[in-house]
Amino acid sequence: AAANIGVVGLAVMGSNLARNLASREGNTVAIYNRTPAKTEELVGAHPEAGFVSTATYEEFAASLVKPRAAIIMVKAGAGTDAVIDALVNVFEPGDIIVDGGNALFTDTIRREKAVRATGINYVGMGVSGGEEGALLGPSIMPGGSDESWVTLGPILKSIAAVAEGEPCVTHVGHDGAGHFVKMVHNGIEYADMQLIAEAYDLIRRGTGRTPAEIAEVFAEWNRGELESYLIEITAEVLRQVDASTGTPLVDIILDQAGAKGTGAWTVQTALDLGVPVSGIAEATFARSLSSHPEQRSVSRDLPGPQDDLTVDDVDAFIEDVRLALFASKIVAYSQGFDEIRAGAAQYGWSIDLGAVSKIWRGGCIIRAQFLNRIADAYAETPDLPVLLTAPYFVEALGRAQDAWRRIVSTAATAGLPSPAFSSSLAYYDGLRADRLPAALIQGQRDFFGAHTYKRIDKEGTFHTLWSGDRTEIEAEDTH
Ligand code: NDP
Repeated sequence: AAANIGVVGLAVMGSNLARNLASREGNTVAIYNRTPAKTEELVGAHPEAGFVSTATYEEFAASLVKPRAAIIMVKAGAGTDAVIDALVNVFEPGDIIVDGGNALFTDTIRREKAVRATGINYVGMGVSGGEEGALLGPSIMPGGSDESWVTLGPILKSIAAVAEGEPCVTHVGHDGAGHFVKMVHNGIEYADMQLIAEAYDLIRRGTGRTPAEIAEVFAEWNRGELESYLIEITAEVLRQVDASTGTPLVDIILDQAGAKGTGAWTVQTALDLGVPVSGIAEATFARSLSSHPEQRSVSRDLPGPQDDLTVDDVDAFIEDVRLALFASKIVAYSQGFDEIRAGAAQYGWSIDLGAVSKIWRGGCIIRAQFLNRIADAYAETPDLPVLLTAPYFVEALGRAQDAWRRIVSTAATAGLPSPAFSSSLAYYDGLRADRLPAALIQGQRDFFGAHTYKRIDKEGTFHTLWSGDRTEIEAEDTH
């Protein structure tokens, strides 16, 4: 036994993670892949890594020091279950099996429970940053037991991205907490991308600027409070010219956005938890809408407004769009953190929301300056019920809201879809409202289903005899 960490699954993510591990002081990495040719290929291509190459699960287990720790990086789903079964057979109580794939957190909860019964630790671990992150330093979101963190903590800290001197990894919480947080990370990523796309579309259609010119706008924004990886790469994508046609690449790419399902998981889970992640939901649905060409082609002639968008003061308009983007982004993150808070309460996890915002500052797709402000907000008030009510965000929203309203109304008047901008504003105004028309909905529910209601002026639960003489009676609470 010579290796302190093992990796099972040597496709792009696993091999990059294994190389990253091997490159750090103190690590010796055992590797295993179902198809042995891939193992040999990796060893041959990277002799500097000093991999301990193994051809069977028995050999793999024998090559690891105890407690053994192995990271699984295989195709999520059946592949993960197959590897877990194989490792449980060759590992011993106290050893650690880590799933670094994109598993649904409820699967992780199920697997953790089953593996824990054998005395082996099971850790569901979110890894963000794609191939490059895996190789150079990802943002890592491990769940699992405290016991497993003792062994894994130093190893994961050695390979994680570093942001402002701190490694982008924290023990998120028990069992499925890591995969839950990774799921919400991806949901926020969907919202952030959709908001940027809406900003681009408004500027393009409102000002007639070319993609290359708009790239300069994003590059400029990346020097201010919007500074982030996604804004940075947006400028890169907009600058790109298609080699075969000489037109901007963004005009050649088919406008149908794909998805691998983590955005949908975030929204499905939010619906179950009763958390309004409307920005993430609109972003997910916007991808769905884009991907139905048969519906779009028959809808093209639907009536729209008479006039196209015309903008008199281009600079002022672009600044309005920037502020609308910033305000909507605050809403998206606030909603995402709300989902983590609700998930933690539901599943009994103790999650430090400030620590989560800090580990997203490096390595991952949503890395941004702005996450420091979220960390500040939770440092100040750890149990803040609504993130966007923290002083920094209140100031920013106060500064942005007039522009945000102008942009949403301009887009609606001109017939430009801005689902994430407008739903974020509606959420904001819903939160702010003194009274909501939910009172009327309660009245309707009581009318057709005797669902009862509460009153603002006295305790108790009430029902109006709608089909009788319409007097009010005290009722059982059937909310
Ligand atoms: P793939 O998802 O393409 O999976 C291929 C690997 O899975 C191969 O090593 C394959 O072995 C192995 N495998 C599949 N089925 C089995 C099985 N039944 N038993 C044993 N091994 C099996 O690899 P990626 O590297 O793209 O992703 C790995 C994981 O990381 C996935 O869960 C993915 O969701 C996640 N992830 C991916 C990111 C990305 O940017 N790609 C980012 C973050 C997470 P063989 O060679 O024998 O076929």
